[in-house]
Amino acid sequence: MSATGPFATMATGALSSIMLSKTAMPGKTAAKKSTKKSAAKATPAKSTIKPRKATAASRKQALAPERIQTILDLLAAAYPGAECALIHKDAWQLLVATILSAQCTDARVNMVTPVLFKTYPTPADMAAAPIDEIKEIIRTTGFYNNKAKSIQGAAKKILTDFHGKVPRKMEELLTVPGAARKTANVVLGVAYGLAVGVVVDTHVLRLSRRLGLTTETTPEKVEQDLMKIIPKDRWIAFSHELIHHGRLICIARKPRCVDCSLEKVCNSGDKTWSTH
Ligand code: SF4
Repeated sequence: MSATGPFATMATGALSSIMLSKTAMPGKTAAKKSTKKSAAKATPAKSTIKPRKATAASRKQALAPERIQTILDLLAAAYPGAECALIHKDAWQLLVATILSAQCTDARVNMVTPVLFKTYPTPADMAAAPIDEIKEIIRTTGFYNNKAKSIQGAAKKILTDFHGKVPRKMEELLTVPGAARKTANVVLGVAYGLAVGVVVDTHVLRLSRRLGLTTETTPEKVEQDLMKIIPKDRWIAFSHELIHHGRLICIARKPRCVDCSLEKVCNSGDKTWSTH
């Protein structure tokens, strides 16, 4: 789940918290296709494709409802059942896991949280815990001083202001230590099924730009653009699918365009292979 501390002020890596359900296994499908296609088509060692300059006409074309729908359909077909990879039992655990995922892999967070929640199961337990003990448990996730402060601060805030329950309103969640908009979107979307915004982590930001869905460069502005063009009932799944695509195919340094099911609708200047 992001510069996703996950979505927190702390960092970025985090909210890359998305993976596919065990039943869907799109990753395997993608991997198989990838092998076949890769064998059939030569991938240039280096992209020779020049960035295309955005004009008013090209922006209008990029944001045409039919094109957006095609992108949504292709993503849904590629990543059915995409879901959050951070293991959690409730909104509180997801909030903590998302805070921990800043600049850290989901796998690492998932190794730490079972111990953390067994030792301090509730917000009340976490609020009363010796801060040094929290730090010790979460040490391997990095930035543990700030993360411990955020987690304990969140526990105290939730106890004193929200009767021990993670709030379900964006404006309330944003008052909780460690919960910036991205974290709040994760908690609201994944734990409560509430589409209040679109999670914009590092993958969503990069792919939204490559796919021409935005020309903005900050998560806040990219989210505003996405909320205008993506139907609300797709906000939660869309970010999960895009994060998965960013991890598997549209990787930052050298996107695997030859294996990309969205290639025909992508005009990114970063493409490493193109049919058009
Ligand atoms: S074609 Fe390449 S740049 Fe475009 S979305 Fe696919 S992997 Fe990313």
